[in-house]
Amino acid sequence: MKFADEFRDRDKARTLVREIETLADQIETTKTRPLQLMEVCGGHTHSIFRYGLEGMLPSSIELVHGPGCPVCVLPMGRVDDCVAIAERPGVIFTTFGDAMRVPGSKKSLMQAKADGADVRMVYSPMDALALARKHPDREVVFFGLGFETTMPSTALTVLQAEADGIENFSVFCNHITIVPTIKAILDSPDLHLDGFLGPGHVSMVIGAAPYAFIAEFYKRPMVIAGFEPLDILQSIWMLLKQIREGRAEIENQYTRIVPEAGNHPALAAVAEVYELREFFEWRGLGSIDHSGVKVRDQYARFDAERKFAIPNVKIADPKSCQCGEVLKGVLKPWQCKVFGTLCTPETPLGALMVSPEGACSAYYQYGGIKRSNTPEKEAVVS
Ligand code: SF4
Repeated sequence: MKFADEFRDRDKARTLVREIETLADQIETTKTRPLQLMEVCGGHTHSIFRYGLEGMLPSSIELVHGPGCPVCVLPMGRVDDCVAIAERPGVIFTTFGDAMRVPGSKKSLMQAKADGADVRMVYSPMDALALARKHPDREVVFFGLGFETTMPSTALTVLQAEADGIENFSVFCNHITIVPTIKAILDSPDLHLDGFLGPGHVSMVIGAAPYAFIAEFYKRPMVIAGFEPLDILQSIWMLLKQIREGRAEIENQYTRIVPEAGNHPALAAVAEVYELREFFEWRGLGSIDHSGVKVRDQYARFDAERKFAIPNVKIADPKSCQCGEVLKGVLKPWQCKVFGTLCTPETPLGALMVSPEGACSAYYQYGGIKRSNTPEKEAVVS
């Protein structure tokens, strides 16, 4: 398959790993501790475990799995808000599939559907708009979720709804932004990261320039990375090369997809429909300034938050959940007390076990871990 097979070549992967080992040995830091490299994006976390990349790397490199899975960082209170909207008479609540099973404080959207709410899985917000056209007597709500990757398609759907004069469509906006999140991670006293694998999908929309502060102010390198095994290994190699040479720059390994300046039409649609929220609540990370967007006043009639009364209650995660520590990379998934026992993909307690991009789900699925907490050595795929 073009653009896939050539990025999964075993021999090239082995060559890259050897070069990574050589570079790692030349970096002074690795003599006292492993280099900590964070992959921000959940898609990278999934690929790293799917292809066993972590187990191929020398022990002098530690991959830290960041908060780049939007389903995983959705706080419980927002899931409760979704359920409250979905359970209103006359509402058709539409969502991407992986958000259906995220636990709320009482139930998930899947459970609300089982209890009689009209919750439907869609593949795009345009599918939700089509439903609104088909059912003019119903209120169709789309669950807008995700980073800048999915923000443009929701914005364009709102613009289409306006152009078509559709009144029974709205978006429950939970879109989040990547840059303040990375800044919050860099400011966290718990973490001492040496570099970042930059998110490929988000960067396809925003480009490379918004990350400049990471290099300029925090003196950390970032390499925007693709999602195939060779993409990730090459990006790690590029990061190590920067570290060995004492450089901190924003480099783009994923040039076949990510334009340096981003996608202008997508950014224009986002700017037209959304504005930054003062702050947004993240599961496990707390409130982060300017880390989410809301629908502008001009498009208020498409804003489910204004159209319907929502509980908007802040709900703490169950005490046994350690999603926050895992999201910040302070704990490995298997170090959570309930990993593989009370919390599994079939019975998720935390959101990181729901989406395939969640670190806990990826560890569980590809780490050979079944139903008990397992020491790290056994958890790693080789
Ligand atoms: S095992 Fe479950 S509760 Fe623990 S961090 Fe992972 S998702 Fe959260």
